[in-house]
Amino acid sequence: MCEEMSRAWREVDLDALTHNAQVLQGALAPGCRLMAVVKADAYGHGAFSVAHRLEAEGIQAFAVACLAEGMDLRRMGIRGKILILGYTPQEEAPLLCRWQLTQTVVDEHHGQALAAQGLPLAVHLALDTGMHRLGIPAKDHGALERLYALPQLRIEGVFSHLCVSDSLEAEDMAFTRLQLERFYGAVRWLRGHGYDPGETHIQASYGIWNLPPQPCTWARAGIALYGVTSDGSPTARELDLRPALALRARVASVRTLVPGEGAGYGLAFRAEGPVRLAAVTIGYADGLPRDLPVRGGEALLRGRRCPMVGRMCMDQLLLDVTGVPEAAPGDVVTLIGADGGKRIRAEELAARCGTITNELLSRLGQRLPVV
Ligand SMILES: *Cc1c(COP(=O)(O)O)cnc(C)c1O
Repeated sequence: MCEEMSRAWREVDLDALTHNAQVLQGALAPGCRLMAVVKADAYGHGAFSVAHRLEAEGIQAFAVACLAEGMDLRRMGIRGKILILGYTPQEEAPLLCRWQLTQTVVDEHHGQALAAQGLPLAVHLALDTGMHRLGIPAKDHGALERLYALPQLRIEGVFSHLCVSDSLEAEDMAFTRLQLERFYGAVRWLRGHGYDPGETHIQASYGIWNLPPQPCTWARAGIALYGVTSDGSPTARELDLRPALALRARVASVRTLVPGEGAGYGLAFRAEGPVRLAAVTIGYADGLPRDLPVRGGEALLRGRRCPMVGRMCMDQLLLDVTGVPEAAPGDVVTLIGADGGKRIRAEELAARCGTITNELLSRLGQRLPVV
């Protein structure tokens, strides 16, 4: 047995990832290329192996959330474009420069502050088309002119982010169309006034699923690249994507309780009949919510579904394995993925956790080796 699979681990299928990248690339307009979003340790899949595999498969651009993630990718030997999607304080301009990272300009103030450092910086301008999180208001042509006038900023792209593109409700789809109009309006204005917008990108995963191919040069895919939807809700297009991650742990110990006996902290579980309980080697410090057992959490053991019971601990949880009499110490327990003929999808576990797969996967703890 390999030491990395001795307690709890993430199993990442790099072939599934390659397949997903090809499917997503095929769903884009001609001339539009896939940018792989590998922030938060590649949504819990391990940025090192994910980025290396994708770069070997021809992906030329990566997106991360912050400076440290960008520097990590460079230290790992990634040579493609790396766009930092989030804010970086101007004092870090030397690091942006040294590591050849492309920084998002989050508003005019940020662009001016970065330029004032006096270093040549590669940037993309974020345009606010209605999400009101980051970006220069798409209609603020004056701000765009002032930013283009700064010689320190090498503006290599402009982009925007859609905030309701995961919804197929008429009102939301109308808002997405409005965001697209504002974005392309700004791009047209730039071109019409002699400014080169460079790369253009607005689709993230749901933009790829729910919009027709867009006339941009990049599309930023995160969750779809990992082969899952955020919450299992329907999408306009069906793409043949494969989940790339399985989450597994082991049975540490099995015991039988007689009716009336309790188990775990607070004795929160009470045996109503004779019950077999397994202690499993994964807990909330690994990224599972502590209240998952009361939310109906289940795991697979020897191809059967077993309910989690009692209170989850930091490093362990209890599984009711009464229905699996052969359960034994060392058995593999599957929290996400397939076992025998059964499967628990990340979407199902995320729903039980009261969240979306993006949050569940990105929270998977560093204590879980990636194999
Ligand atoms: C995280 C992020 C993405 C990727 O989103 P997915 O829905 O996971 O594809 C794209 N663009 C921006 C600006 C982001 O912050």
